[in-house]
Amino acid sequence: MKSLSRVIAAVGLIIVFSAAAEPYDVLLVGGHVLDGSGAAAYRADVAIESGRIAAVGNLGRARADRVIHAEGLTIIPGVIDLHSHADGGGESGGLRSPDANRRAAPNLVAQGVTTAVVNQDGRSLIDIERQRAQLEERGFGPNVILMVGHNTIRRAALAGGSERSATPAEIETMVRYVREGMNAGAWGLTAGLEYEPGIWSTTEELIELVRAVKPYHGLYIAHERSSGIDPMWFVPSRGSAGVLPTTMLDSILETIRIAETTGVTSVATHIKARGRDYWGKSGEMIAAISAARDRGVPIWADQYPYDTSGSDGTMTLIPRWVADEFGGDQTNYALALEAALHDDETARALARDVMHEILQRGGPGNILVLDHPSRSVVGKTLGELAAAREVTVVEMAYLLQIEGFRDQLGGATLRGFSLSEDDIRNFAVQPWVATASDAGVTLPGEAFTHARYYGTFPRKIRKYALDEKLVPVEQAVRSMTGLPADILELDDRGYVREGYIADLAVIDLVAIRDRSTFFDPHQYPAGIPYVLVNGAFVVDSGEITWALPGKVLTREHDRSRPDTDD
Ligand SMILES: [Zn+2]
Repeated sequence: MKSLSRVIAAVGLIIVFSAAAEPYDVLLVGGHVLDGSGAAAYRADVAIESGRIAAVGNLGRARADRVIHAEGLTIIPGVIDLHSHADGGGESGGLRSPDANRRAAPNLVAQGVTTAVVNQDGRSLIDIERQRAQLEERGFGPNVILMVGHNTIRRAALAGGSERSATPAEIETMVRYVREGMNAGAWGLTAGLEYEPGIWSTTEELIELVRAVKPYHGLYIAHERSSGIDPMWFVPSRGSAGVLPTTMLDSILETIRIAETTGVTSVATHIKARGRDYWGKSGEMIAAISAARDRGVPIWADQYPYDTSGSDGTMTLIPRWVADEFGGDQTNYALALEAALHDDETARALARDVMHEILQRGGPGNILVLDHPSRSVVGKTLGELAAAREVTVVEMAYLLQIEGFRDQLGGATLRGFSLSEDDIRNFAVQPWVATASDAGVTLPGEAFTHARYYGTFPRKIRKYALDEKLVPVEQAVRSMTGLPADILELDDRGYVREGYIADLAVIDLVAIRDRSTFFDPHQYPAGIPYVLVNGAFVVDSGEITWALPGKVLTREHDRSRPDTDD
């Protein structure tokens, strides 16, 4: 017994000795910490060991393999992007690309993103196990949280066409797909109710599916049926084809009902009020969500800090039906338009549809020409062009097609700015609104993309916190770190705390800014010199490292206590 206790004492001594002598992997010294809780910044050093935050405090005399002088810099938790398209869709997109540089997701990690919640808007692989295996085989930059896509499972479950409501048996089949996905490590369900075939689903169908994630402590993220006065697919002259077009507020109320009925944490994603005729509606949506939250409904939202949407960048003012009905071989859309305008009744219907789209995209002064064969047109708004030509805005839309690219519907690449700054600001100050990008992976030199692909998170901090002082910087940081971690119920990420995983970003609050614009989107942000994923540098001294330290996060892993995990 005596010798055993002596051995134990000796071993204890060795452990104490080696702990004192062993240098940390990384030590960030002299910086301030914004910990993700919304609390004020404080002076602290942060030590990283074996992928975790080993210590936070005054560590001046500690040793480390790598010491980073963070004087004047702020250490924040890594960004958790609640609405990400980094999966890239399809069989081998985004983080599963054969191209390792794409899997590094440089445009995301450069913004401080360390975790991306993917398979949004109802789109996933049907086989989550397979998607997870593809990711884990190939390796990727930021951590990933997988979701099950409602549109994907609905298409699979409804034999012989999914443009209808589902039968009870088909709902059962969908429930089985949800369970399979959850068992394979998914975190919840996403819906894309403005897209096929989600537009055909009933609230009851959704309730059954969302209920299925409840035993897994899953999450429901809903792309609404509409983000304005009517859905994107709604064309006035063509009617609604059996589905009643709803407003964004209707859709929010449905999401609240689903959350309330199931008790499942639900997110009204990329919350907005789209279209000139819907501006100002943020107040009603906020009132509805706030009232629901007050009575205990687990509902949240996320937002990207831009006044233009994804579909604002693929908009066409000439509706698709012109091509379908008058397009011939569809290599000359100008001819199709001229044929449509020939008939008076068709021309009246067309004018109504074009005007509807102009209003949905923010009005003639908010529709910008990004590309057109006539360079004098590029950079002008539809309203400016119409005034200069002394034509109506609808006639100007026709001229863009007639004088534009013949093989491109609408004749020009346009971007609408369909959201009002007032609504964006109203949403941005709500403590239950996370900041999310709605962006996927892109590489410099690729096609036009939304500025949010490179700028979302630094823009929220720069524009809305530091410059306009709409929200305190503590809250801006919280909206992209601690808040999404709370929504996801992550228990060891999203905060700068001892024992938490070392997903961190080091930012310079003087220099931080988004640099991506709509004419020149492929611009990395400034002022984010270091980003670590699971303790590994993905941005180092302001340079992308192209490292692939990401993991697929699953419930089992993240529910384990830090001290029982290696
Ligand atoms: Zn969406």
